[in-house]
Amino acid sequence: MKSKIKRRKFGNTGLYVSELSFGSMNLRLLDSPEQAYELLDYVLDQGINLIDTAREYCKMNKDGYLMESEYFVGQAIEKRTGLDEPIVIVTKGHGYTLPELDADLGTSLEKLKIRGKGNLKIGKNDIKLVYFLHGINEARWESIKNSGVLDKLKELKSEGVINYIGFSSHYRNVKEIREAADTGIFEVAELPYNVFNRSLGEDGQINFLKYFNDKGIALINMKAFGGNGMVPVMKILRDYVDIDYSVMLNFCLSNPYISTVDAGARYIHEFEADINTALAPRFDDSQLMKLKQEADKVSGLFQNICRECMHCLEKFSCPQEIDFPGILSVYSRYNVNEKLGRSTSEFFEQYRKFELNAENCLECGECSKWCEYGLNIPVMLREAHNILK
Ligand code: SF4
Ligand code: SF4
Repeated sequence: MKSKIKRRKFGNTGLYVSELSFGSMNLRLLDSPEQAYELLDYVLDQGINLIDTAREYCKMNKDGYLMESEYFVGQAIEKRTGLDEPIVIVTKGHGYTLPELDADLGTSLEKLKIRGKGNLKIGKNDIKLVYFLHGINEARWESIKNSGVLDKLKELKSEGVINYIGFSSHYRNVKEIREAADTGIFEVAELPYNVFNRSLGEDGQINFLKYFNDKGIALINMKAFGGNGMVPVMKILRDYVDIDYSVMLNFCLSNPYISTVDAGARYIHEFEADINTALAPRFDDSQLMKLKQEADKVSGLFQNICRECMHCLEKFSCPQEIDFPGILSVYSRYNVNEKLGRSTSEFFEQYRKFELNAENCLECGECSKWCEYGLNIPVMLREAHNILK
């Protein structure tokens, strides 16, 4: 199977990866394992050779079955016999201390069905395992630096338990991203970047895409579509800007510093559309400039909104059992519609369905520590209540 999708250099790893890769986070949102296997088979049939997953990408479906991304990826690869190149698997754990690293990595290897040392395999297929520290932020980075995790990762690599070391992070962690890149330990990184938010790229204090490229660190681009919360927002924005999903993806693919763009499709038809975009010509500099100007007409609307990514719930739940991401997503949709002068009546009704709200909040701020976008959640809950109650 030879893919038509172009390969790009994967930093200094010596690997070449398909410039479009598959982000399997949303497998956890599907109704059944069969849907997950069908999609993964399609992805592998297209010659995609990098699949991104994580220990935390799990969710119970409506039948009480645990939809577990790593498990599905392992099973899907294990049953294949005709793969003619190694599949690069990126998985991530919350190993910010040695016991956490030990526990998360052990479970990931088991769920992914990875065997061997050095020349790793799933079933009969060769794989390359990139092991990530998931979502580095200030607190996690402090723990990582002081708990022996970095030395342990180097040891695991030299023993062949993992092949490469990486990390992921988000927009607000500029200081930690720079420090991590400067350690010289990380060979791969995953960062958010898209046409509406270029703050880790050319519009930031540091153009990390170039910075990483110059250091030979392979860069996986996530959130090319802005995250799950962009789906409802994009439906609205189509009336205001001439940018659709294909344009968003091509914008990222057109950046030469990115090794691969991780597209987190949920259905075959979505990934098929991504493949078609990947096969289309890239934008030139003048097209890119026009796109940025077009995006900047509305990018202010994305400040301080909940992206419905649900990363906050991966390791945390509110002690008061408040569905804070649920409330924040309703409030954020209200805000976008209100700023655009559109009808907002449905959001008042949606808000009333939450039994627990800001009145039950202790304002402890613990939830904010887990928000990838640094939202001040207790303050936003209060604002939501004052407006939507
Ligand atoms: S600030 Fe409020 S919503 Fe957040 S964890 Fe504390 S009680 Fe829960
Ligand atoms: S509160 Fe933050 S982490 Fe949680 S879903 Fe919203 S944007 Fe994502």
